[in-house]
Amino acid sequence: MTVPIRNHDIAELKRLDLAHHLPAQTDYKLQQTLGGSRIITRADGVYIHDGEGHQILDGMAGLWCVNVGYGRQELAQAAYDQMLELPYYNTFFKTASPPPIRLAAKIAEKMGGHLTHVFFNSSGSEANDTVFRLARHYWKLKGQPQRTVFISRWNAYHGSTVAGVSLGGMKYMHEQGDLPIPGVEHVMQPYSFNEGFGEDPAAFCARAVKAIEDRIVAVGPENVAAFIGEPVQGAGGVIIPPDGYWPAVEALCRKYGILLVCDEVICGYGRLGQWFGHQHYGIKPDMIAMAKGLSSGYLPISAVGVADFIVDELKDKGGDFVHGFTYSGHPTCCAVALKNIEIMEREGLVERTRQDTGPYLAKALATLNDLPLVGETRSLGLIGAVEIVREKGTNLRFLDKEGEAGPVVRDICIRNGLMVRAIRDSLVCCPPLIITHAEIDALVAILRKSLIEAEPVLR
Ligand code: PLP
Repeated sequence: MTVPIRNHDIAELKRLDLAHHLPAQTDYKLQQTLGGSRIITRADGVYIHDGEGHQILDGMAGLWCVNVGYGRQELAQAAYDQMLELPYYNTFFKTASPPPIRLAAKIAEKMGGHLTHVFFNSSGSEANDTVFRLARHYWKLKGQPQRTVFISRWNAYHGSTVAGVSLGGMKYMHEQGDLPIPGVEHVMQPYSFNEGFGEDPAAFCARAVKAIEDRIVAVGPENVAAFIGEPVQGAGGVIIPPDGYWPAVEALCRKYGILLVCDEVICGYGRLGQWFGHQHYGIKPDMIAMAKGLSSGYLPISAVGVADFIVDELKDKGGDFVHGFTYSGHPTCCAVALKNIEIMEREGLVERTRQDTGPYLAKALATLNDLPLVGETRSLGLIGAVEIVREKGTNLRFLDKEGEAGPVVRDICIRNGLMVRAIRDSLVCCPPLIITHAEIDALVAILRKSLIEAEPVLR
């Protein structure tokens, strides 16, 4: 079935956008100056189309989420069928419907091992709120109510709710809303290009791990509930930790009896070439948060995977876990997520990312290393970054001020037909997992062209 292309009155939409709409993470003064938001009207495969008739290669899979690509009729059909049968019911007070039960079992199969249970929410931020409350509740049940502190990393992104921003390590987000809330401690991130440039990777890794241990000791291990981290920091700038970092962090958590939480909101569902990012690093977290790729963004849904020993404690002690959302286990969202996982399995998207397209992207990005603006390229699976520098061979940024060059190159990329994101002076990409070799070539060709065009603008 072909979907008819609808014509939108873009001028009218921009007028209404300015008059009534507050888009997310937006400077509303700039929105006015630009005459309204960029309006995306349709999408297919790895391409999005804007209201001005441009086709743009979506190097960001929407917002790191459209893993199976756009235009999947099976997902629309799954939503349609479920909506007619049972569009909505809740999971409060010992109630459920078939889709969340089936989806929980499917996710448990993918998590494997001791992560046996699943709690549903609608967004990644809510998943991390659930982690926050569940970890503290667990320690209370265990008779250690003083274990309330979460340790996280600077520049981590764990969402936009009060707990999400607090767990996250974005200082500019903390500034709005008087955050973080008490009980969250931030430590050094394993960002070798910025914070360990030229340093021996093993020494840098040891330094980053020691920063965590020092904080645990300073806070008092008996007060620490959990350590939380993204296997690869996404919104922080695609920060891939050095070899050995995650096993060492896991060992620290075991040494001090602290829960290990992985925020898999970006890394889950094949992004790093495994169903979950922690599986790439061979570690066993006690809880994981997931969202985005779980439904490929077709409908909002998130989940928290929980280890058996935590669930055993809840079952053993009894009493309600007084937490949940109207849309926890939403039948239509769960039905779409189930179909999305089925598509990923059928098309072997996780294996393909690990064995084929992930390594292909890494090689393709590495061809940019001859350009004067490129300080480093890095990727793992289908998530990658290009560091923009002023002087080749250094990590010195333009105008001696971080964050000046990235947006300039990003805007040129978009004009040239590629959607990427600038995170300070890193250009990051995270394309749909269906991307082909030819489309990766096209993505990297636009990056090259844009980096070349940006040079005279920046110098
Ligand atoms: N955690 C990580 C690692 C994320 O990247 C995000 C969003 O980008 C979130 C949590 C928050 O997810 P949401 O925007 O669905 O609340």
